Amino acid sequence: MSGTNKSYGNSTSCVSIALDGVSYIFDAGNGILNFETDLQKNPDAEEIYLFISHYHFDHLIGFPFFQPLFSKRFNVKIYLPSFEDTQGFNALQKLVSPPLFPVDLSILGKNVTFVEFKPGEAIIKENDFSIETRLFAHPGGVCAYKLNSGGKSVVYLPDVENVGINTITDLAEFCSTSEILIIDATYSDHEIQTRRGWGHFCISDLRELSEELQQTKIYLFHHEPNKTDLGVERDSAALRSKNDNVFIACQGEEVEI
Ligand SMILES: [Zn+2]
Ligand SMILES: [Zn+2]
Repeated sequence: MSGTNKSYGNSTSCVSIALDGVSYIFDAGNGILNFETDLQKNPDAEEIYLFISHYHFDHLIGFPFFQPLFSKRFNVKIYLPSFEDTQGFNALQKLVSPPLFPVDLSILGKNVTFVEFKPGEAIIKENDFSIETRLFAHPGGVCAYKLNSGGKSVVYLPDVENVGINTITDLAEFCSTSEILIIDATYSDHEIQTRRGWGHFCISDLRELSEELQQTKIYLFHHEPNKTDLGVERDSAALRSKNDNVFIACQGEEVEI
């Protein structure tokens, strides 16, 4: 997300990985409406795995408009983390039901299935492919995902706050063998002074993390929504100048691993 100019976003969180004709999608912010573009690159895709990190609406606002849910061509399997006070399916149903939405999840066909799990479980494990999960600090909880395939891995963690004593070391350990980390970069060090408890990293947190993850490419996203592209560049400039492996993710950007 970012405010005007839009190079670094304007859509809310959604990242997809295309692998062997399958689409693995992380979160269903309104970025998920760009799936058609994705499909042109992965035209034979029939299997879609959708992994939800948590239930704040910036991560779900595109969900009820995601066309493959309503197309028999696709099998869509949706992974929903349950947190201490939140059962996965109930949380999604709360957003997709009246009065917030005209219809509820019962309109979905047999091509859509749901899997609830507790963060910490390895939710998929087949030969050299797996998806690991881990709970991190965010109001209500957030689930980080690590996709491992053929000895390479990518970690997705859109929202996280540095409040537990081990947040940075736990995260560095979870990502230590990963090629890529896609991570919350919401606040500047100035902005976080009045936003503690809102659940996000600031640039100092990212600097600390990047020092522990020298081999991992770190893609910053989920910026403060009022920030312009220039603001995003300005706030992360010092961090990026010290580490060639830190990038600002752009809307629609593709990275090959
Ligand atoms: Zn959140
Ligand atoms: Zn968010």
